[in-house]
Amino acid sequence: MRQKRAKTYRKLMHLYSMSFGFRQPYQILVDSEMCQIAIDAKLDLIKQFSTVLQGNVKPMITQCCMHELYLQGKARQPAVDLAKTFERRKCNHREAIPGDECLSGVVGDTNKHRYVVATQSQSLRNGLRIIPAVPVIHINRAVMVLEPPSEATLKAKELTEEQSLRPSAPELATVPRDKPVPKKRKGPKGPNPLSVKKKKNSNPETSTRPSQKTKAESLDTSSSTAQLPGQKRKRDSQDDKCEEQSVGMTNAAQNIASTRTRKRRRKAPAVSPSSP
Ligand SMILES: [Zn+2]
Repeated sequence: MRQKRAKTYRKLMHLYSMSFGFRQPYQILVDSEMCQIAIDAKLDLIKQFSTVLQGNVKPMITQCCMHELYLQGKARQPAVDLAKTFERRKCNHREAIPGDECLSGVVGDTNKHRYVVATQSQSLRNGLRIIPAVPVIHINRAVMVLEPPSEATLKAKELTEEQSLRPSAPELATVPRDKPVPKKRKGPKGPNPLSVKKKKNSNPETSTRPSQKTKAESLDTSSSTAQLPGQKRKRDSQDDKCEEQSVGMTNAAQNIASTRTRKRRRKAPAVSPSSP
């Protein structure tokens, strides 16, 4: 297939899928004459279909079209065999009717099952042009052709595009309800907490490394029992400061603090001379 034609077909199938919901594998209703021509021209129908539609395909044949092929007799057996490989589309015509009528009945007024129709019948092709969104394939001198979109198809496409631009009645009804949604979508208030310097925490028990200043403040103001852990840590690091701060503590805590510092101070000189 030439590049220009391939591009045209790709665009056309894009239109059918975007505006009318055609999906792969494309379901193709094949008529009996198409099967016979394919055999005569030695065309690989399925391969040709997927080349023209540029996607996966699922060829189908209706019961009535199958019946038409049987009527052709033994000479047409290869066409029958080919058609037998297709999926059978039940049309529920109790007595077989002409293939054209059967196919237009299966497509219906709206082609709601999104069929592609592969037919050689000129009258059927004319009839399908009235219905929006029916891709039609025929064979012209051993070349498979995807017909350009019909007027009905183009009009329907414009209509759906207009509708998609204008908010529909149910959409308008939901607009006020939708308004709070963007507010919810806003990110967390303030900057990312991970990117911000940690706030100085006034509670020494929750903060892992309280700064000197907060420790001193908390020691001055609060009761002794709550302060013991913080006090201990401070004493370990800075003995002198701790002694000064212990003035503000209650007697019990003060005694513990002072005796410990005293003990340590006594120990220090006692140990240092003995050691070599
Ligand atoms: Zn039928």
